[in-house]
Amino acid sequence: KANSSGESSNEHAIGVHDQQLQQQYLRRLALRDKLKLALSAHALTVNYQPIICAKTQQIEKFEALVRWHDDQFGFVSPAEFIPIAEEFGLISKLGQFVLERACQDLGRLHQLGYEHISFSINRSINEFRTDNDQVALVTQAIAKYAIPADKVVIEITESVAMSSNHYVNDALAKLKDTGVKIALDDFCTGFSSISNLIEYPVDILKIDKSFVDNILIERNQSLLTQTLIDLAGKLDMQVIAEGVETIEQLNCLRDYGCNQIQGYYFSPAVPIDECIALLSKETR
Ligand code: C2E
Ligand code: CA
Ligand code: CA
Ligand code: CA
Repeated sequence: KANSSGESSNEHAIGVHDQQLQQQYLRRLALRDKLKLALSAHALTVNYQPIICAKTQQIEKFEALVRWHDDQFGFVSPAEFIPIAEEFGLISKLGQFVLERACQDLGRLHQLGYEHISFSINRSINEFRTDNDQVALVTQAIAKYAIPADKVVIEITESVAMSSNHYVNDALAKLKDTGVKIALDDFCTGFSSISNLIEYPVDILKIDKSFVDNILIERNQSLLTQTLIDLAGKLDMQVIAEGVETIEQLNCLRDYGCNQIQGYYFSPAVPIDECIALLSKETR
């Protein structure tokens, strides 16, 4: 459209777009300042989502997921504030808080007699990129609460595992040597190649929700998921499927050979007291 009215509506569209960008930018800056305060005030919390055996439906692990409620912004999703923490240099402090709290809570579960339970803790690439000693931080935290190293899983995304940064590679190799398990999170959602999986010695592969969503709907996605589970098994890796919302999805994944599942079908992430309640209801 080359007429003048078309031009002016186009200009208007750009104006609105700029305004949206500016609002997003201001929200990020405000969240950054609030997050800084929340970290200093220890106002964040950690909830835990059960990871159950696909066959028995007994709880075997929990994934630690950070939670933040702000007076002004309400509940802010970690999907929004983790990238902000990474960008503005707050991720080390945040990661350290989650690590410490998770180890404390796992120590409590073990003391209550649930010693078979593992905790899975997310670590961001920026926590590995700097020269701060990830191995020391993790081993100190698990020693402080007398947790066996093999009951702690560190979840990293592919960008971490496949980093060419030598700090990252050294840290992961040393962590594995201490007995801590390494899980590869969100596999196949970014730029990945299956050859990465063969080269990198992870213990656990986490199948992303985007695959689980489609296994009963889309034949090719289901074939890919099946093949990934097969391959992981042949490489002696455990497989956890995330975002499982229905019994049909669970049954299908179990039949494919998936070891564990995590998702709203069983439970969302809950506070530690509710974890204890869930465990106490299990017949063992
Ligand atoms: P993630 O590590 O892939 O975690 C799984 C996300 O899927 C969680 O979202 C969880 O609540 C959600 N989820 C689990 N089951 C279901 C389901 O059945 N249906 C649906 N719709 N969603 C489900 P959440 O807690 O909002 O966390 C988002 C992301 O933020 C996480 O993705 C992780 O990348 C990051 N994150 C969370 N906590 C931490 C942390 O302590 N440290 C770091 N570095 N990142 C974290
Ligand atoms: Ca994760
Ligand atoms: Ca994930
Ligand atoms: Ca994810």
